[in-house]
Amino acid sequence: MDIELIELFPNSIKFILSDVSLAFANAIRRTGLAEVSSLVIEDVYVLKNTSPLFDEFIAHRLGLVPLKYDINDLDLNFRDECDCGGIGCNMCTVTLTISKETDNQTTTVVYSSDLISSTEGVEPISSTIPIVKLGPNQALELECMAQLGQGKEHAKWQPVSAMGYQIFPIPKISKDKCTNCLICIEACYRGVFQKVGDNVQVANPLNCTLCGYCLDLCEPGAITINNDPTKVIFSFETNGGMNPATVLTKAGELLISNIDEFKKTLESTLIDKEKES
Ligand SMILES: [Zn+2]
Repeated sequence: MDIELIELFPNSIKFILSDVSLAFANAIRRTGLAEVSSLVIEDVYVLKNTSPLFDEFIAHRLGLVPLKYDINDLDLNFRDECDCGGIGCNMCTVTLTISKETDNQTTTVVYSSDLISSTEGVEPISSTIPIVKLGPNQALELECMAQLGQGKEHAKWQPVSAMGYQIFPIPKISKDKCTNCLICIEACYRGVFQKVGDNVQVANPLNCTLCGYCLDLCEPGAITINNDPTKVIFSFETNGGMNPATVLTKAGELLISNIDEFKKTLESTLIDKEKES
C-alpha cells in the first residue's frame, strides 16, 4: 500500500491510495464518517430565554456548532461508558455557558464566541456563527453539555463534512486519431486537456472524473479513458474540529480494533462449537 499526498490543508486533504481494493477505501470512508467520534453540544439547560426563538430552536442551533479540541490533550470517555454512569462528569462532559442580555435601548446578536467553555482548549471553530438576535430588554442564559458521539448516531457528530474517493483515471489522446479540433478542451469543465503548441495534451489527468463527456464529442478513438482499479483518489474536508490526519489515523485504529473484535468473537464461537461436539 502506498499514499501519495496531492494536497494537505488544515481542514482538507487529497491523496492517491495505491495497491488497495475499492472495498478497503470504502471501509476507511465509512469508518471516518460513522465511527470517528467528535465533541458536540448534546444537552442544553435553559436558565433564561426571552429571545424571539424557542428553547428547542436555540438548542438545535447550538448542537450544530462545530467545536475545536485537541484529541490528544482531552481524553474524554463516551458518556454511556463513563464511570459516572451517564450522569455527566468532567471525564465525559464539557460545559459551555452563554449569558447575554440587552437593556431597553440596544439590540445585539448572540454569536458562537459567546459560548464560554469550562475546559481549556475547547471552543467553537468559528467565533462568528450567529445563534440568535436579541431585541431590547431580552436575555439568554444557557448551560450547554458537550459530549463525544459518533456520526452513526447523529450526523452532527461526523467529524468530516464530505469524504469520498474515485477510481484513478487514465485519460489518453491518440496522436494518430486526434484532429486537434479542440472541442475536448471546451467540453471538459475540469480542465483535463490543454493546448500545448499545436497539439492537444492531457494536462491534468487527476482532474478527470470519468464522466466520458469528451468521448461523446470527440473523433471516435481519439480519446480513451481507462482506469486503474488498484488506485483511488481519496479526498475529504473536516468540519474544523480535527485535522484531516487525525481523522484518518483514528479511522485506521477503529478499523483495526473492529477486525480484532471480529477475530476474537469468531475464535470464541469456534471454541464453544468444538466443546459442544
Ligand atoms: Zn462521566
